[in-house]
Amino acid sequence: MKRFAAALAFVLLAGCGGETQTRDTSFQESPHATPGDAPAVTELNAVAEAFVKLGLELGVYDDDYVDAYHGPPEWRAAAEASPRSLDDLAAAADALIARLDAVGEKGARPAMLRRQLVAARTRIAMASGDTFSFNEETKLLYDAVAPAYDLAEFDAALSDIDSALPGEGPLSQRVQDFRNSLAIPPDKLGPVFDAAIAECRRRTLEHYDLPAGENFTIGYVTDKPWSGYNWYQGGFVSKIEINTDFPVIIDRAVDLGCHEGYPGHHTWNVLVERDFVGANGWIEYSMYPLFSPQSLIGEGSANFGIELAFPGEEKTAFERDVLYPLAGLDPSNAEKLAGVNKARRKLSHARNHIAREYLDGRIGRETAIDMLEKYGLHSRERAEQSVRFIETYRGYVLNYNLGQDLVKAYVEAAGDDPWTAFERLLTTPLSASDLAAATGSGAAPSE
Ligand SMILES: [Zn+2]
Repeated sequence: MKRFAAALAFVLLAGCGGETQTRDTSFQESPHATPGDAPAVTELNAVAEAFVKLGLELGVYDDDYVDAYHGPPEWRAAAEASPRSLDDLAAAADALIARLDAVGEKGARPAMLRRQLVAARTRIAMASGDTFSFNEETKLLYDAVAPAYDLAEFDAALSDIDSALPGEGPLSQRVQDFRNSLAIPPDKLGPVFDAAIAECRRRTLEHYDLPAGENFTIGYVTDKPWSGYNWYQGGFVSKIEINTDFPVIIDRAVDLGCHEGYPGHHTWNVLVERDFVGANGWIEYSMYPLFSPQSLIGEGSANFGIELAFPGEEKTAFERDVLYPLAGLDPSNAEKLAGVNKARRKLSHARNHIAREYLDGRIGRETAIDMLEKYGLHSRERAEQSVRFIETYRGYVLNYNLGQDLVKAYVEAAGDDPWTAFERLLTTPLSASDLAAATGSGAAPSE
């Protein structure tokens, strides 16, 4: 490993030390100090501000890094006008990590800020041409490592689906034919998605008071490596996009409505802006860095949000009674589709395995596409889209399934109302290792 990895090993180790550092009272004279601020908080705020500015500059080199930004517009303009070199950004990130460690503050906020800085430092290294193994990369970026997988378990899940959908021809073809028979006609996409998102929102607002004016727009796009995306705009407004490159199957309406909207990404972003940035003044949360430990919480909570909002058979019932008729589809297929999906859920981790094998160079691109076709039960074209996603977002894939497992375990272990536990998760700076520690989960991300 090159010099960046050695430096990262140092900053990671430094963060594990349990000793409390002595506070430097000279922080009191910081120009950022405001009356009533403890010196450590003032210094923490200064590091947070420097982190945001550094992240905006990194965004000039790494197009996908800044997923959302709603801080001062002049910071972004300044970053784009004259970004530091990658070498300078690397040195600046190291200095900020050292500065944060010198504050010696314990708690969720500084712990998360440190992980954000380590993740930024890693993306700077990657933008500079450095490479990491899949596991090293996910540990540094997302504070998580996917477990080892046994293909026999995925093969067993394929057998279950085979029993649910008996017939001639390859299984992936049978699954696609069945699913494609339940595609939402293009002229019904709007009404079906509007109804689905309205129901996701209604169920979420029964439990949460979201700020007045929170809102979203929805658009239909093509030629993307993802199936849906929430572009958070700030000011409690989201822009949700649905990719229509492939037929949109009826079960995706509630999935995407919850995942991108309520109680998923839109809700999470609204709560983070309201509580972290607004109430607490934690400026680091005015930027959402895609390649960061926040994303495991974001994707995991967005996926878990589907079963939170529609527990048990409620999703199937809502689809059968409301969405199938709206789409002009035969509602008698709803239970069968739900049964196939339950078995498919067990296959979701297969993409972590395939991505790791491919990105670590143990299998080639064609083999990766073959495996995604087989274990993802995709068409060739859809498997190719999935490889493009892996090439673009790399280890990010584990945030969906490992994140979902960790969030589910956290909510179930909390022992109180699941919506209360879920809101606490969204409004506390936690990352994967915190969730694993809170639940004693077998998915503990420590190496
Ligand atoms: Zn997502």
